[in-house]
Amino acid sequence: MATPEKTEEPPKVTPLLELAKCSKATPSPNPDKCGPIITIVVGSAKKIREFHVYEGLLSHYSSYFKAALKGAWKEGALKTVELKDDNPEVFKAFFHWINTGKLYFAPNASGEIPLSEKLICEIYVFGDARGCPDLCNAAIDLLLQKMHEAWRTALAELPFVYENTLRGSALRKCLVDDFVDNFRFPNLTDVIQRDAELSRYPQEFLAEIVVAFMALGSTPIPSAAGWGNLPYSKNNWVTHIKPLICSRYHDHPAPPA
Ligand SMILES: [Zn+2]
Repeated sequence: MATPEKTEEPPKVTPLLELAKCSKATPSPNPDKCGPIITIVVGSAKKIREFHVYEGLLSHYSSYFKAALKGAWKEGALKTVELKDDNPEVFKAFFHWINTGKLYFAPNASGEIPLSEKLICEIYVFGDARGCPDLCNAAIDLLLQKMHEAWRTALAELPFVYENTLRGSALRKCLVDDFVDNFRFPNLTDVIQRDAELSRYPQEFLAEIVVAFMALGSTPIPSAAGWGNLPYSKNNWVTHIKPLICSRYHDHPAPPA
């Protein structure tokens, strides 16, 4: 008798949190008007990568590239832009997004989002610096999906985010909300761990957390019913956050005049 084939257990992966497509996103440009190909050289030394993108796509989504590629500038004349200080992995995500509307091509071998929380925050900062609000919105959406998948707060990313964003930024707001909703600051007042623990939190972040809790007043934390009792807390958070994403975290560019 033939030995039955060993059947592998399918990996237990949290299904991707489905989010509605932003109804105010910038529509795609007319492919007929995408113009010549621009070479973008990203990074320096060993971490350098070249990308080839239609000029019309770059100018359509990013005010930075729109200005840089005007004929009068060197970049516009040479059809080449160098971004020495940027991370090629961040540009790769931008490249995917500009061509497909998604920040990555496929899930990783475990069926999970292949981008780290750190990289997603870097994509937001890149979008912010390059005048590309739709990219920032896409990064926020993916960060929320990543938080849902990994079910952890982006504690390790706080210093990077607070060093690279301005007060009132949507990324900060998203992280503060998530900490209020889903984190209970363990060890924060523990005398033994206090110094090490406190150094993980930027001062401005702690101030924003205090303001956020004060703003709640006597209202219970919106997603906290059943907190600590998975999957109830996660489902509550999803139900609470989904309808808020577009109005609370997205920056919608004005439609072209
Ligand atoms: Zn939106």
